[in-house]
Amino acid sequence: MAAVKTGLGTEKSSRLNRTSVLLLKCLGFIFAIFFFCEFLVYYLVIIQCHWPNPKTETIPNPTTPLKAIFLSDTHLLGEITGHWFDKLRREWQMERAYQSAIWLLQPDIVFILGDIFDEGKWSNSKAWENDVARFQAMFRHPPHTELLVVVGNHDIGFHYEMTVHKLNRFEKAFNLTSGKVVSRKGINFVLVNSVALEGDNCKICRAAEDQILEVSRQLSCSRMKNHPDSVKKCRNVLPVPPSAPILLQHYPLYRTSDSECTGEDAPSPEEKNLLFKEKYDVLSQYASQKLLRLIQPRLILSGHTHSACEVLHDNVPEISVPSFSWRNRNNPSFIMATITTEDFSLEKCFLPTENTVIRVYCVAAALLCICAVIYLLPLDFSKSFYTIKQKPV
Ligand SMILES: [Zn+2]
Repeated sequence: MAAVKTGLGTEKSSRLNRTSVLLLKCLGFIFAIFFFCEFLVYYLVIIQCHWPNPKTETIPNPTTPLKAIFLSDTHLLGEITGHWFDKLRREWQMERAYQSAIWLLQPDIVFILGDIFDEGKWSNSKAWENDVARFQAMFRHPPHTELLVVVGNHDIGFHYEMTVHKLNRFEKAFNLTSGKVVSRKGINFVLVNSVALEGDNCKICRAAEDQILEVSRQLSCSRMKNHPDSVKKCRNVLPVPPSAPILLQHYPLYRTSDSECTGEDAPSPEEKNLLFKEKYDVLSQYASQKLLRLIQPRLILSGHTHSACEVLHDNVPEISVPSFSWRNRNNPSFIMATITTEDFSLEKCFLPTENTVIRVYCVAAALLCICAVIYLLPLDFSKSFYTIKQKPV
């Protein structure tokens, strides 16, 4: 009986050892998968993106090209409609993607084309401050990288719910004034509050249109620098570099639908068939023509649709930048641009798809189950064998 007892003790301790080793291996495996899916994958995917070469490389240029990143529609969830897990997951994904991109690509400047927040149109002061603080932590950047934003309808509300207070708190939080020229390395960017281009003479709309007129004056003065009338006409106008501007806004310029959009992140066939509503999905025809005439841009970048598209307005390309949030897309992306005073080259950088990450988790869970079964089965067999052998005693 003593021999049987010792055998039982040895068997028990060997089983305990095997279970501990198995648990440790499982924990290590889970940690490795989690580290890969939640951290490493962003670096592995973004490292494959490269800055496009400038088209005018052969022309001697006194300044190096500007490296700019454009992203849009981050829609940070608020406290009213956002579920805590959805918020946690989406914000973690966007933070990791943004931080990996900043570290690997080292852009000079990043532009976010509106709808930064999902509930900026509703949130009270406390919720607003909380949202802004989370944004600043997620989109932190080194001092040599600049971050500029344009305002979207979810930040201050559609035209009918937009107020001076909401616009002021947005501009204060991001230290910006909409409707102005931002010049970097001789390149002009015009940042427009497209929500205010309703054309109904509301207080904010009037101010926005005045700002666009002033920007138009600055740009035409930059074009007529050596003109004899320039001194007289441009006396009180803030000078800007003589380079055709790039227009940045949240709403796209007027187009009937997204039927012409192509590419893997274009709208779905059902979405392509939907006709756009002026002043809601896109700017009105009138406002669009006015912007094209007054600003005379060489490139337009906009957000709002959450999908990719490229359209031409009198030979001026407009790029719809898809949403940066996995809440809105399975395959978010951002645009990388190498810009000179004369030209620009664009490249899209896709982020890890949600499906791939979920597939990795599923395969890992299946492997874990198979391994656990393989480890546990021999123990059960030996236990059954031992019980049968001991019965006659
Ligand atoms: Zn929008």
